[in-house]
Amino acid sequence: MAKLPVVTVGDPVLEQPAAEVPKITKKVSKLIDDMLETMYEANGIGLAAPQVGVSQRIVVLDVGEGPVALVNPVIVDAEGEDIDVEGCLSIPQRWVYVKRATAVEVMGLNEKGKPVRIKADGLYARALQHEIDHLDGVLMLDRMLAEAEVEVEPTDSETAPEEGE
Ligand code: ZN
Repeated sequence: MAKLPVVTVGDPVLEQPAAEVPKITKKVSKLIDDMLETMYEANGIGLAAPQVGVSQRIVVLDVGEGPVALVNPVIVDAEGEDIDVEGCLSIPQRWVYVKRATAVEVMGLNEKGKPVRIKADGLYARALQHEIDHLDGVLMLDRMLAEAEVEVEPTDSETAPEEGE
């Protein structure tokens, strides 16, 4: 595995819709492994392929229940409304309030190409919506209601970018 450079806001790859992944090749598997490593090293809870410069519909997440990879994820159901603070590894040192559904159901493929259906709520649902937005070129700044002030504890923050990277 290898840690990948995370692109930051202003890079056009973050603003364009990502392409469907036609097949889970070895290259895709390696990208998923590298994305997970990159996410863990940055203390993130989610990362989308465009954030490492790859315009493909792949996200990885870990909200504390172990690693999850989703290829071509689609939100098929959403309910409720919740406003909370988000950060983004591609938008260092900013935290904003975003309104999201409280619960979502997502369909996609796992890292082996097997169809999966995930029901999530709370932080997991929020992270899924944030990451899937990246696949459509949508950033939290496009949805922000207001800036938030957050005292960052780099070890347990939702996304705590490392200084100087
Ligand atoms: Zn993000």
